[in-house]
Amino acid sequence: MRHTIIIGSGPAGYTAAIYAARANLEPLVIASSVEAGGELMNTTEVENFPGFPEAIMGPDLMTKMQEQAERFGTEVLYDDVVSLDLDGPVKRVTLGSGAVHEASSLVFATGSAHRKIGIEGEERLSGRGVSYCATCDGFFFRERVIAVVGGGDSAMEEATFLTKFASKVYVIHRRDELRASKIMQERAFNNEKIEFVWNSEVIDVTGEDAVSGLVLRDTVDGSERELAVDGLFVAIGNDPRTHLVHGKLDLTPEGTVWVDGRSSRTSVPGVFAAGDVIDPTYRQAVTAAGSGTVAALDVEHYLAALGEAGEPAPDAAEIDGLPEVDAA
Ligand code: NAP
Repeated sequence: MRHTIIIGSGPAGYTAAIYAARANLEPLVIASSVEAGGELMNTTEVENFPGFPEAIMGPDLMTKMQEQAERFGTEVLYDDVVSLDLDGPVKRVTLGSGAVHEASSLVFATGSAHRKIGIEGEERLSGRGVSYCATCDGFFFRERVIAVVGGGDSAMEEATFLTKFASKVYVIHRRDELRASKIMQERAFNNEKIEFVWNSEVIDVTGEDAVSGLVLRDTVDGSERELAVDGLFVAIGNDPRTHLVHGKLDLTPEGTVWVDGRSSRTSVPGVFAAGDVIDPTYRQAVTAAGSGTVAALDVEHYLAALGEAGEPAPDAAEIDGLPEVDAA
């Protein structure tokens, strides 16, 4: 049986792993089969993670976090959790492969999933012009006309990125004011290829085998109109990914996993949660990383109280491949 299992491989999961591994808890990270690395794998330049003044590509940042976790003894499995047994002192994690892993503690850091508009054409044409990831699919829209839905940082980031490929990008927002940060807004406002469509919601996506247009409804006067586009990128936020713990962990009214104050302690002893899955407000890579730190420290304290703890962390020189660093 392991000391701890971490579910999720975004900034929260890997930061928890770095701390737990350095405490010699030999964590197992369940990284997911297709979404390993989390949201930042679908991002281009990350300009606000401290320590990277020239920015760093999202996938590069996640690779570095994983390497840092593995360097101290984290094991990473590319598989999906299908069920959790959180009752009692032994936590059981069943994977898609059928394997069952047991641990004294668990860190739940599953992040959040793309929100959908919830209209018929969106589902029907998903993957055929409707996308949730500009960096994955933008390339297919060279010299085409695209719409991005949303008014937050994600929508501004996606729209700006898509202008590298598209001839024109409409940003469709349901209000007349953006939620995005000022710097992201200005970047979008200054981009000649971007045109804002204010006070509008997408009520249908048209096209037989591929997207050919949108039906928009004016949120002020209710009037409807059509807009010809070749693609629709939905960037209207995310919802915490909690389906594995429904009925097992308490949730907040916002749908995030409930934690006790500023700690990562959930409603079940030995189960800790971190990152976007507990955060309805800030949801930044750096806040998720900080939250992963809290979870790993809470795990350490919990295991210590049980009389269970990892061996003292090895000196850097004892770990293969580590450069020797002079003590400051
Ligand atoms: P968000 O901030 O929650 O914004 C979602 C946007 O979509 C809002 O403008 C919202 O409209 C709109 N929306 C929500 N549901 C909708 C619906 N059903 N139909 C139409 N529009 C809908 O989400 P986000 O942009 O994904 O950002 C999430 C977090 O990640 C934020 O904290 C953000 O700062 C962060 N982030 C940061 C960066 C960066 O710093 N580079 C990049 C991406 C994301 P209303 O405004 O009317 O509510």
